[in-house]
Amino acid sequence: MTRLTVTFLGTSSAAPTKRRGLPAVAIQKEGNVILLDCGEGVQRQVLSQGIGLNKETSILVTHLHGDHVTGLLGLLQTMSMAQRKKPLKIVGPMRLQKWLEVTADLLQMGLTFPVEFSRAKPGTVLRMGDFKVRAAKALHSVEAYSYLVEEKNRPGIFFPEKARALGVPEGRMWSMLQKGRRVHVNGRTVSPSEVTGPPRLGRKIGYSGDTRPSPRLLSFFSGCDLLIFDSTFHGKDRDKAIERKHSTCLEAAEIARAACVRRLALTHFSARYTSVGSLVKQARSVFPQTIAAKDGLKVEVAYPDS
Ligand SMILES: [Zn+2]
Ligand SMILES: [Zn+2]
Repeated sequence: MTRLTVTFLGTSSAAPTKRRGLPAVAIQKEGNVILLDCGEGVQRQVLSQGIGLNKETSILVTHLHGDHVTGLLGLLQTMSMAQRKKPLKIVGPMRLQKWLEVTADLLQMGLTFPVEFSRAKPGTVLRMGDFKVRAAKALHSVEAYSYLVEEKNRPGIFFPEKARALGVPEGRMWSMLQKGRRVHVNGRTVSPSEVTGPPRLGRKIGYSGDTRPSPRLLSFFSGCDLLIFDSTFHGKDRDKAIERKHSTCLEAAEIARAACVRRLALTHFSARYTSVGSLVKQARSVFPQTIAAKDGLKVEVAYPDS
């Protein structure tokens, strides 16, 4: 099994606290890194959590509120100090590109690597390694997106006895069939479906960014293996969540239950709560498979059929 690891780099909302930095999440599989949001100080977390500055990396920004984006400049600068050469892909609202270009110019940042910017819009916004990332409009006080990181389906289980019966010699040809490619044996083509079971689903990770719950997000996040959702407020502070266009822990849990996700991680906690224990407890009353994110927490995402 190839590991798919989610690391929470920052889990506070609006302002950092003693224990929580500003929003950022890293998804890692083999050499690929996807960063979701880039709160201030993210480069220090990237270093301390062993994410690496020279990996194949894409950054997806949900919206242009300072707490989600100001870490980007520091991260780019630190990557340059590390002599990064690989291109960096950045996806976000259109004004993000302008902000980056103007600031990089004013600060004479002289990046050592190219930045490939693409504008966030509903639909597929990124393909990288085994991943496809889709965006959907979130419901926040400014233009904002939620992202769904989907891993490609894996080929089905390989049946050696079927391959042998068809005269396919063990070795390179078996490996090709296992990877979903056809082979030619004794003047005949053998296709993968003849020697493998049906394709197995890849893993799905949903990230809401800042948002109110909505029917659109409910269907967007349907069947996620891990859903990371805005949980700025406790259920008793729902009026504040409505006013500031965020969600409560209870609303996050309701979305998780209705969308039939496997696991829910609450994040983006308001600094007003010294402990988030009561938020998790409330969410678990609706959706038991709930955890609270904290800075440095690593979650291994399992395959849906495991
Ligand atoms: Zn925020
Ligand atoms: Zn916001």
